[in-house]
Amino acid sequence: MFSRRRFAAGCVALIAAPTARARGAGETDSFALVGSLEQGGWALGQVPVGTSSLRVDDRLIPFAADGRFPVGFDRDAARGARLEAVLPDGRSVRADLAIMPRQWNLSRLNRLPKYPVPSAEFAARRPAELAQIASAREKQTAAQGWRQPFRWPAIGRISTLFGAQRIYSGEPGAYHSGIDLALPTGTPVHAPADGVVILAAEAPFMLEGNLLMLDHGMGLSSAFLHLSRIDVRTGDAVSQGQLIGAVGATGRATGPHLHWGLMWRGARIDPLLVAGSMPRL
Ligand SMILES: [Zn+2]
Repeated sequence: MFSRRRFAAGCVALIAAPTARARGAGETDSFALVGSLEQGGWALGQVPVGTSSLRVDDRLIPFAADGRFPVGFDRDAARGARLEAVLPDGRSVRADLAIMPRQWNLSRLNRLPKYPVPSAEFAARRPAELAQIASAREKQTAAQGWRQPFRWPAIGRISTLFGAQRIYSGEPGAYHSGIDLALPTGTPVHAPADGVVILAAEAPFMLEGNLLMLDHGMGLSSAFLHLSRIDVRTGDAVSQGQLIGAVGATGRATGPHLHWGLMWRGARIDPLLVAGSMPRL
């Protein structure tokens, strides 16, 4: 037996934030969720009281002692997602989420891109760089930034949106996995939320340049690319708003900009849906 609840797509606030008020009668036995139910979106949830395990689309997901958890929906997420809590008496509580598909900024080009021939240096260095990124993503920290309203790491003109993609003669290229802010080299970059540094590149990576990655806890992490300078070291705990580095054009970049990517357990999240619209310049 299970109880089931449906959540409509795209809603920004589905149920008042669980921490904002006491739960009403009848609510204890169901999920509460606040966020953006759309591709690239994310939400903060609260498990039903007494939940012993939580699954998102059949994947076991940890939740905090107070029952809260973040959940993200990949850029290419399916139209539905399912939350399932198992209670100590064996009952399960399910919530079916409708995930709104989005229109991405696609540019169609009639020619294949002229990929530069990978250099011997690229071939030699890239595997170790990818291994560093992969091992950083595996780090789980006790950071609590996932609970906070995120701030923009820098304020500037958005030059490339999350999810943008080029189609070359019908062949889709990789989509843009973060958001780009056009800013001069040296512009300070601040932590968008509390976190722990899981990667601070000691030398520029071939593509990402000076790469800084923060874990915000519960599977949510940020990556900042192309930095001219990194001001923190791997293992450092950083607070929201703390200076962590500066904008640059290191790695593969046509000009100085900040690329900010967000990921939740492998799902690519749109920073615009987490940090909100860019404040007026
Ligand atoms: Zn970018």
